[in-house]
Amino acid sequence: MGSQEVTDWQGKNVTVAGLGVSGIPAAKVLHGLGAVVTVVNDGDDERARAQAAELEALGITVRLGDGATLPEGTELIVTAPGWKPDKPLFAAAAEAGVPVWGDVELAWRLRGPDAAPWLAVTGTNGKTTTVQMLASILKAAGLRTAAVGNIGVSLLDAVLGEEQYDVLAVELSSYQLHWAPSLRAHSAAVLNLAPDHLDWHGSMEAYAADKGRIYEGNRVACVYNVADKATEDLVREADVEEGCRAIGFTLGAPGPSQLGVVEGILVDRAFVENRQKNAQELAEVSDVNPPAPHNIANALAAAALARAFGVPAQAVRDGLRAFEPDAHRIAHVADVDGVAYVDDSKATNTHAAEASLAAYESIVWIAGGLAKGATFDELVAKSAQRLRGVVLIGADRALIREALTRHAPEVPVVDLERTDTGAMLAAVQEARGLAHTGDTVLLAPACASMDMFANYNKRGDAFAEAVRELDAVDG
Ligand code: ADP
Repeated sequence: MGSQEVTDWQGKNVTVAGLGVSGIPAAKVLHGLGAVVTVVNDGDDERARAQAAELEALGITVRLGDGATLPEGTELIVTAPGWKPDKPLFAAAAEAGVPVWGDVELAWRLRGPDAAPWLAVTGTNGKTTTVQMLASILKAAGLRTAAVGNIGVSLLDAVLGEEQYDVLAVELSSYQLHWAPSLRAHSAAVLNLAPDHLDWHGSMEAYAADKGRIYEGNRVACVYNVADKATEDLVREADVEEGCRAIGFTLGAPGPSQLGVVEGILVDRAFVENRQKNAQELAEVSDVNPPAPHNIANALAAAALARAFGVPAQAVRDGLRAFEPDAHRIAHVADVDGVAYVDDSKATNTHAAEASLAAYESIVWIAGGLAKGATFDELVAKSAQRLRGVVLIGADRALIREALTRHAPEVPVVDLERTDTGAMLAAVQEARGLAHTGDTVLLAPACASMDMFANYNKRGDAFAEAVRELDAVDG
């Protein structure tokens, strides 16, 4: 189905795969455009039935408990991004020559002719933070913008709603990119690439290729991480518009066509006149909140995209100063007895935890949870010399303990078996026992939380509450 054909949705048979955060609004929008919509869903529980009833009341057909069969007459599938490409529904679609779009593709195709361009961000870690920094910078430049994608406003609302935008800061996951073949951003950044979600993509190569799609057709800049060669390789492989530039960001001194750091200053040697000789000061490292190395990298990536859009240097500084990180991302909870307690519950994989551990000199590390197939040797080996001690929690803690035995045998480890609601308080108390003045107690679990908590937010809340309890007993 080409883009001309879909300008008229009247009577089109569209199957929406998956009732959920993207499926329900997609079904409603398509129905509103006159398409004949059928929603298919694997699950058939109470919640799905309630959602189905709501859609059926509008005249949308819903099939619960069967997400595998392609409904008769389907001309297009709009899938939830999380649906795995090897599902039988997609095999049937391929056989019948039916195209499959994800939520991002749908939003991209439904944008009006004068729609705001997209500045897009992907990567294994740091997407949300970078997109929020970017939106803050764009706002500081007086542009009408929003952070959209997995955060804030939904993409469909952003492209179809009343609100007018000059430019959008868009977070994209590897799943969304997989299902967005015709997306063409103004400029895009891949922040980093580490193994994640490999069960979904099938291999690291397939994961990287899906991330790399974000660069396809870029008009102004493809922003990559100088320290992560895989991101630069993706730029090289991308088919971009004539004149589109590759722009690197680095925590070191920038070369021409790069943004980097010189003596505590974020500088731009890409979007300046005579970049062989000149550099433009953008902001100070202390303007970045928190000024941890990985977060400075995020700020540089956001700055690169903003500068690609023509934003002045001062707006970069103002936007970074105005930016407040979301909860549970290296959030300083309290100092107790000269020890800092930091909540990075959002570090749900080893790559994120490694960045977090690199931000402190002497750490009592609280880690563990659901490993999702990860291995911990590299993380532990790289962080060993920063560890004062470790407190392990959660289902897969033995995996981390074994890595510690191999790579950091001298570091004291407390292995907490309990998983009850008081377990986090016990962990924080144990951590306190290990910490010396000047140390940081860091919750950066490198694991998912669902074995002990509803989600990473609840895990971080439990940590903060436990720290406050320590503080109260203390005071
Ligand atoms: P995402 O949206 O990609 O999940 P977030 O901005 O929410 O990323 O950050 C998630 C976690 O990843 C943070 O809590 C931090 O531990 C880690 N992190 C953030 N930025 C980076 C980065 N550039 N490199 C490595 N880890 C990072």
